[in-house]
Amino acid sequence: MKLVACPQCHAQYDVADIADETVRCPCGAIISANPPVAVDAAVKRCAACGALVADGEQVCSYCQAAVVRDPVPAGPVCPECYARNPEGARHCTACGVAFLPQPIRRTADPLECPTCAGVHLAARSLGGLWVDECPMCLGLWAPGDVMDRLVERVRERRRRDGKTACESAHRERRAAWQAAVSYRRCPVCRGGMQRKNFGHRSGVIVDWCGSHGTWLDAHEMEDIAAFVLEGGLETAPAQQKDGSWNLPADPARTAAILAAEQLLADERARSNERTQQWTFGPGHPFKGIGDLIAEFLKR
Ligand SMILES: [Zn+2]
Ligand SMILES: [Zn+2]
Ligand SMILES: [Zn+2]
Ligand SMILES: [Zn+2]
Ligand SMILES: [Zn+2]
Repeated sequence: MKLVACPQCHAQYDVADIADETVRCPCGAIISANPPVAVDAAVKRCAACGALVADGEQVCSYCQAAVVRDPVPAGPVCPECYARNPEGARHCTACGVAFLPQPIRRTADPLECPTCAGVHLAARSLGGLWVDECPMCLGLWAPGDVMDRLVERVRERRRRDGKTACESAHRERRAAWQAAVSYRRCPVCRGGMQRKNFGHRSGVIVDWCGSHGTWLDAHEMEDIAAFVLEGGLETAPAQQKDGSWNLPADPARTAAILAAEQLLADERARSNERTQQWTFGPGHPFKGIGDLIAEFLKR
């Protein structure tokens, strides 16, 4: 891993395996693909979680990971402060920044929405990660494993806030929305995306290109949340043997979905709207999954 960070938006990119001289960041910055020269720096942060560690502390008081004071510096060089880091570090031991490279975009051309012909997706930063949102249907394209990262962040945030699982709210799923679903093409390679039936029988379909990312319709997060809250996970058949992407089997994802559902429920209560009137339409605070995640990471 050889990381560079965007000076404008601080998005990180791994330039270890790229031939290009520069990396184009969706914020507009052109970043040199030359990784920084490493410097030695005092260990002030936990390499596992980024929490502050006191002088002489042997174990992180937050996550209990061992504090490596004299590392063999074979790990990442911090793209923000240039400190050498021990192998396997997930956070910089000098400044605490998380090492989270995101997929490098090969072209400046905007991607086309897999649902709305001729409509270009707009880049949007969510918690420091770049996704693409359709201004028309508000669907969200999360490149590579960015969706997993977002879900993980929402989950971490939720854990930090000490929120407990929200109470179940039985709602009618809008299965009718799914009736019109057709096979979609990956906005990057134009190949047919795989359709994944969430929980195998929820009727909620997400689209997935194994090489490029995940597409979520604006209403899918809510539908998935409803399925989870109705106990669909417990009654769904066992996990697939082929190890294929299985949304509900991942507790992190499930927790994030529950968190998202709570947000929607809160917002719905605040705006005093009936369920029937709930839409992701214009004028509503949450216009889509992008807004939902952004709002959650803000709290
Ligand atoms: Zn940037
Ligand atoms: Zn820690
Ligand atoms: Zn650093
Ligand atoms: Zn669209
Ligand atoms: Zn693709």
